[in-house]
Amino acid sequence: MIETMGEKAIQEIKQLLQLSESMEQVVNPYEVSAKDGGKIDYDKIVEKFGCKRVDQSLIDRVHRLTSRDPHVFLRRGVFFAHRDFNEILDSFERGDKFYLYTGRGPSSEALHLGHLIPFMFTKYLQEAFKVPVVIQLTDDEKFMWSKTLKVEDTKRLARENIKDIIACGFDVEKTFIFSNIEHAGTFYENTLKIGKCVTVNKANAIFGFAGEDPVGKMGFPPVQAAPSFASSFQHLFLGKDNNLRCLIPCAIDQDPYFRMTRDVAPRLDYSKSALIESKFLPSLKAMNGKMSASNPNSAIYVTDTTKDIKKKVNSAFSGGKDNSTEQENAGADLEVDIPFKYLSFFLDDDAELEHIKKEYGEGRMLSGPVKQRLTEVLTEVVEKHRKARAAVTDEMVNAFMAVRPLPKMFD
Ligand code: ATP
Repeated sequence: MIETMGEKAIQEIKQLLQLSESMEQVVNPYEVSAKDGGKIDYDKIVEKFGCKRVDQSLIDRVHRLTSRDPHVFLRRGVFFAHRDFNEILDSFERGDKFYLYTGRGPSSEALHLGHLIPFMFTKYLQEAFKVPVVIQLTDDEKFMWSKTLKVEDTKRLARENIKDIIACGFDVEKTFIFSNIEHAGTFYENTLKIGKCVTVNKANAIFGFAGEDPVGKMGFPPVQAAPSFASSFQHLFLGKDNNLRCLIPCAIDQDPYFRMTRDVAPRLDYSKSALIESKFLPSLKAMNGKMSASNPNSAIYVTDTTKDIKKKVNSAFSGGKDNSTEQENAGADLEVDIPFKYLSFFLDDDAELEHIKKEYGEGRMLSGPVKQRLTEVLTEVVEKHRKARAAVTDEMVNAFMAVRPLPKMFD
């Protein structure tokens, strides 16, 4: 039908879609937001995307199969949704192998705490299941989407970010880190540069496309899709099973890419990748957005000093009441309290978290001590990361990025 409609009618439909989206929440790889004063409704996302909730029986199963405590992000429902994770566990139980795939778009010099979440979790899965990991740096994507970054900039940022990723503790004998640009060489670099120069309008005149975005954007989703097929890594999986299954830990905003990938898989005769998907570490300012590098005020970076962290935590949105009498009477609104939310991500001790929940929520604890505790917890996370990052050399980056077989990847 659409091809018989005029441009005006198409614009009207687009405006209507934007209007209905603006009244609802928006969760996609480019934007995460809910209405002002609202918060992300994860039940709605699960329903709309058609993925499944991670339930207690799945968590218990992970516990049983790995003989170790499930990661705090599983226990607390941070990784809350999945696609076929149960099938990965079925095949693992039968003795079959799988591999993990995660990634990062190098848009900033340093990572923020939200970026650490998939990496901390993937590192845990690597250790717990004794499986290999491939990590994709989408420097091509960040070049294509950015108005200011050149190819050279995103390549440099990728190497800087890789140091932060290695600092999360990945095992070099089981991990292959690759940059879309560096590993594809100058031929691919040129295709990107060309792709960024041609608008869809121009291509439309030549090929019959429509729209104003760089045509190169249209070419990116397959690039993020390809690592979910084992055959993309001949040096790792050649001669093994080309249909080795892939499990992708990521935040739920990446789901659209992999819905597309799973849809394509049977047509290419590949197995569908499985996903385990997280909620967002919220912005410092409100529950209706994620911590994001495009809004530096929303984020705590792994390069922040204790003083920075303290200042940022003190300015975070609080669900505590304005004065101690009100707080004692009504207690804090934990649903909107950012410091408490961050503690639920990063404070490992379940009993202490429960204590704070009760005391702060029922008004016997003020927001000051909660922020103070969070400052300590985050300082510890960041300090540990800083030390590990300082020990990462350029040679180590090269070692993780070398195209090589990984003979001990399943040991
Ligand atoms: P930013 O806007 O900060 O650059 P991004 O989504 O572009 O974030 P990527 O590097 O593309 O960042 O994402 C890497 C992974 O980190 C993805 O799985 C993404 O969903 C996840 N991620 C990014 N921000 C957060 C966050 N605040 N909470 C949880 N996961 C996050």
